Amino acid sequence: MRFDILTLFPEMFAGPFGESILGRAVAQGLLDIRLHNIREWGLGRHRQVDDYPYGGGAGMVFRPEPLFAALEASLELPPISAEAPLQADFPVILLSPQGEVFNQQIARELASYPRLALVCGHYEGLDERICRYAVNRELSIGDFVLTGGELAAMVVVDAVARLIPQVLAEDSAGEESHTRPLLEYPHYTRPAEFRGWKAPEILLSGHHAKIAQWRLKESLRRTLQRRPDLLAQIEPDLDKSERKLLEEVRLVSNTDEHREPQRTTEDFK
Ligand code: SAM
Repeated sequence: MRFDILTLFPEMFAGPFGESILGRAVAQGLLDIRLHNIREWGLGRHRQVDDYPYGGGAGMVFRPEPLFAALEASLELPPISAEAPLQADFPVILLSPQGEVFNQQIARELASYPRLALVCGHYEGLDERICRYAVNRELSIGDFVLTGGELAAMVVVDAVARLIPQVLAEDSAGEESHTRPLLEYPHYTRPAEFRGWKAPEILLSGHHAKIAQWRLKESLRRTLQRRPDLLAQIEPDLDKSERKLLEEVRLVSNTDEHREPQRTTEDFK
C-alpha cells in the first residue's frame, strides 16, 4: 500500500517508520511510504509557506499556494481550481483537531484502498481553502491539540498498516480490542506465579474451549467496566451464549473480587 505524506518535517518520520513491524514491512515492500517536504514548494527565496492571518490575531497561517502545488506534484494530480475540483479516487486526508475522530473502523476502511495521502498541518491553522478544496477528508486523533500533524499521521499510518495482509507476522489483529466494539481479554505469560500473583489456572489447563470461553467472558467484563459505551453498541449483536456470559458478568461485576480499582496517578505518589 502506498502512503504519501506531505509535511514540513520529513525527518521526524525516520524513527517510527524505520523500526520494528513498520520498518520490516517497508523493507519487504509491503508499505511504500513517500515523504514530501512541502517547503520545496515554498514561495520566494526563503521558501515561505506561512503568512499572517487576515483579520489579525495570534499565530501564522499555512498559505494555500505551496500546499496545493505540493499535492498536485507529489500525488500527480491535475491542477485543482474553482472550476476543476480535486480529482483523487483515494483518500487525501488532512490531519486536524477539527476532523472526524479516528478509530479502528476508519482504519479498516482506509486499509482497503491501494493508496492514501496524509497532509500534516502546522502553525495556528491552514487557509480554509486548503481544508475545503485540497483534501477530501479530515481526521483527528483525539480531542486535544498537537503542535503539528506529523505525530497524528504516524498514528494513522501505524493503525492502517498493521491491517494490511502480511504486515503482522501472525494474524493477531483478528481478536484485538476494537475489532468488534469489545476490549481484548487480559494476557498472562510465564512465570505462572510472580511475587505472589498467580496467572489464572484455566489458561494453563490446555483446554482450548474453556480458555476461549474464559477469554470471551473477561473481554465482556473488561468492556462493561471500562467502556460501557462500547458494550451498548455491541449488545444487540451478541448471540445467545454471549448474552448468557454477559448476564453472569453483570451479576458479579460489582463484587469486591471483580471490581476494577479506580487508578489515578495520585495512587502512585
Ligand atoms: N488552531 C488549530 C485549532 O484550534 O483547530 C490547531 C492547530 S495545531 C496547533 C497545528 C496542526 O497540528 C493542525 O493543523 C493539525 O495538522 C495538527 N493537529 C493538532 N492536533 C491534532 C489532532 N488532535 N489530530 C490530528 N491533527 C492534529
